[in-house]
Amino acid sequence: MTRLYVHPTFLLHDPGERHPESPSRLRAIHDLLAEKPVDRVELVAARPATAAELARAHAPGHLEALEALRGKHAQLDPDTAVSPHSLTAATLAAGAAVQAVDDVWHRRADNGFALVRPPGHHAERDQAMGFCLLNNVAVAAEAALALGAKKVAILDWDVHHGNGTQHTFLNRRDVLYVSTHQHPYYPGTGAPWHVGEGEGAGFNVNFALPGAQNDADYGAIFEAGVLRVLTDYRPDFILVSAGFDPHRADPLAGMQVTERGFAAMCSSVKQVAESVCQGRLALVLEGGYALEALADSVHACVEVLAGARTDDFPRTGVRPDTVAALQETAHAHAGRWGFQK
Ligand SMILES: [Zn+2]
Repeated sequence: MTRLYVHPTFLLHDPGERHPESPSRLRAIHDLLAEKPVDRVELVAARPATAAELARAHAPGHLEALEALRGKHAQLDPDTAVSPHSLTAATLAAGAAVQAVDDVWHRRADNGFALVRPPGHHAERDQAMGFCLLNNVAVAAEAALALGAKKVAILDWDVHHGNGTQHTFLNRRDVLYVSTHQHPYYPGTGAPWHVGEGEGAGFNVNFALPGAQNDADYGAIFEAGVLRVLTDYRPDFILVSAGFDPHRADPLAGMQVTERGFAAMCSSVKQVAESVCQGRLALVLEGGYALEALADSVHACVEVLAGARTDDFPRTGVRPDTVAALQETAHAHAGRWGFQK
């Protein structure tokens, strides 16, 4: 079974009128799942992350500052605001990601998808940022390690770089961070030469794409880069920061990915999970702001997770700047992950 983690309170987080990260995003996803149900999928109510679970990925001062905003309206930065239910929603979002890990680890589910908001990957250990209050995927990675996983891989295919996730695990080798993102772009981090620090050197892999990459371009980056790194790392669990803002219809960025592209990314990562970690895989929703495109793409990934479809990447021309981006990452990691020196 594939478990989807949901909660009505996710709809009550209100970052402000006309904010792209709106409750309509989850409504569109739920409406489509109700209209076109997928077999072997069950909905599970999210539970809040515990204080101990959050403390593994966040500084006490950050958690106290957020707690002080419970029940209030506040603007945290130009992009990030809270409403009275936001902290409850954020705590449930992190909890949903932990539940997905726990259920898959204990085989109550084959895989899972936390359909949450607010998103998480821009949240730093000590700071809310970029629509994100708590770093859901970082909390989930720590939960997997606490359950006994020795190595956890986080793949972040959101169009924005996950600065918070990178930063949280920059000097660690027990959590691999691999990101495909538009660059230079918000939030500014994610250069290929940023490969990790100290013991974590080599375990932070950024594929910095110039923009306009389509399904075939992502196919090239996945097959010659992302999937090789994930396979070579041999994680015990794979988490995906699943943002759908690389979609060609998305208003916030400049990629050209379609539903098929996301289904192909999900299919290929699921295959890696089956080959290296008994299929242990959980997706956590990040961005995606074109409502219909978001719903269609999430639905396609749910079908992949549930075994109802498997997609491959189209074999059309790959852009020269995609090849150049791949070479930059290969150069930065020369001698690791099968990249030639
Ligand atoms: Zn994004």
